[in-house]
Parts: sequence; structure tokens; C-alpha cells
Amino acid sequence: MPEGRIIKALSGFYYVQTPQGLYQCRGRGVFRNRNITPLVGDFVTFDVREGKEGYITEIMDRTNELIRPPIANITQAIIVSSAVMPDFSTILLDRFLVLIESKGITPIIFITKTDLINDEQMKSLIKYKKEYEQIGYRIELFSSKDPEDIDYIKGFLKDHVTVIAGQSGVGKSSLINTLSPDTQLKTADISKSLGRGKHTTRHVELIEINGGLVADTPGFSALDFDEIDAEELSNCFPEMVERMNECKFRGCLHAKEPKCAVKSAVENEEIPSYRYSHYISFLEEIQSRKPRY
Ligand code: GDP
Ligand code: ZN
Repeated sequence: MPEGRIIKALSGFYYVQTPQGLYQCRGRGVFRNRNITPLVGDFVTFDVREGKEGYITEIMDRTNELIRPPIANITQAIIVSSAVMPDFSTILLDRFLVLIESKGITPIIFITKTDLINDEQMKSLIKYKKEYEQIGYRIELFSSKDPEDIDYIKGFLKDHVTVIAGQSGVGKSSLINTLSPDTQLKTADISKSLGRGKHTTRHVELIEINGGLVADTPGFSALDFDEIDAEELSNCFPEMVERMNECKFRGCLHAKEPKCAVKSAVENEEIPSYRYSHYISFLEEIQSRKPRY
């Protein structure tokens, strides 16, 4: 039975990419591993009916899945921030990092619009770059207007299934359009000139760019921590994971507990104080949330 990956879902059809080409398939409603709906990104087997049409018969186990956008088997999430317009914000970046870490997806940080900043601003960004690298994150500063930068950035997509995240206006659509000239998602410039709000795509599609697949819809648009428990939060901060075995108390939340290795690392400036204060503010947000029933 042929196998492939769903790269697009539209009007009840799933488009399955295989080495033999693209097949238009229907889901039959019942699969061997029942009770699930096929998602873009799923590896499936299918029965061929005629020509390039078929029925999905089985969905392979997923490594992960997102609800918005509905995509399975993501291998990395790129968080796009801009140096300016809007200004770079570490708290927003940390919020995206936590959400991505909580899904078990590897984050990469892209900071765009470096063509719009002066040396002073660049220095400050380079300081942040070093601090995030110290944690173990990959972080790149570049301009989507610079063809050489874009050539370099392209390399990050190869062999990956990538979701792009980030607040509005940072340059996500411009980046996808520059990387994949056939795509042409609407950017802020175009929506403005049409006098309408930004368009929202209803379907999801994985676009092939440089030997990888990229979601054409931004991910992690809901930025709340509804699905994260207080005890799990520090697992989303790699520099805390690294140290928590040295905390005196098992299950230390690194807040009011004594003999906490994380707090010592903050005092010794091994962990930047803004990362820790973001952690505490996220923790308070989670602890003040109404219990879920
Ligand atoms: P999105 O909301 O994240 O998809 O952002 P857009 O792609 O719509 O970009 C918002 C604005 O930033 C547009 O006017 C883009 O032309 C501009 N922009 C995006 N990236 C860059 C960049 O690297 N440098 C400069 N100067 N402008 C950029
Ligand atoms: Zn601790």
C-alpha cells in the first residue's frame, strides 16, 4: 500500500505527497488506530482508487501535534522577533519559547529588521544573542531585505517540518515570501494597500522550501499557558532543567524555596535576571489561573 505525508487539507480532501507524486485522498472516518482525524504533516498509508485518488487507511503515530495550526510531526518552530517595529521584547520571546518547549518542539530564534537599527541597538541585540546561546538556543540576527542573509537563513529549513511563530508585524509573511517566491502570502504592506485587514487562511498547507516543509500559517497564536502546570514550567527553561537536581527540595518551584540552585545561579549572574523574572511572572500567571474542571 502506498505511503506518504499529508501536505494539505482542503474541503474534505487530504493531499498526500509520495515519491510517485501527489494523491488526492479522502479519510474514511475509521482507521486502524481509530478516533483520530488526519492532520497535515501526518504520515499515512492509503488505497489507490483510480489515477491519483485514494482513501487513507492508516495514520502513523505522531511525534507531536498542534491545534493552531492543525499540524502533526513538526520538527522545529522558528520564533520570529524584530529588532524594531515592533521593538524586540525578551518577555514575549520567552513566552513563545515556553509554549514551544512545552510541546516538545525545538525552537530557533530569528531576529529580523537588523537593517533598521544603529550600532548601539545592534550591540544590545548581540548581548541578548550571547545570553540565549548560553542557554543552548540557536539565534540569528538578519534582514529579510538582504539576499545574502536570506541565503543563509534558507539553510535552516532543509529536512525539517517548520512552523513559524511570532507576533504580528515582525516579518513572518515577508520571510516566507522571500524564501519561496511562488507562495506570496499577504504582508502588512499589501493588506494596507488593499485597505483591508490581514487575510486569514482557512486551510493549512506545508510549502516545500529548500528541501524542507514550512507551514503557511503562523503557529502559537494563543499565548496563554492554559495547558502548562506550575510544576512543568521550569522544564521549559533549559538553564533551570540543567540545575534543578541540585535544588534542596524535590519539586522545587525555584520561587520561595530555600537552597535553590536556580536562585543561586541568578544571584551569581549565571542566569540573566530577566529570564528568572519572566519565569516568576509566568509562574504567578499559572498559579492565579482558575482551576480547570
Ligand atoms: P508578519 O505580520 O509577521 O507576517 O509581518 P509582515 O511580513 O507583514 O511584515 C511587516 C512589515 O515589516 C512589512 O512592511 C515588511 O515589509 C517589513 N519587514 C519584514 N522584514 C523586514 C526586514 O528584515 N527589514 C525591513 N526593513 N522591513 C521588514
Ligand atoms: Zn530550585
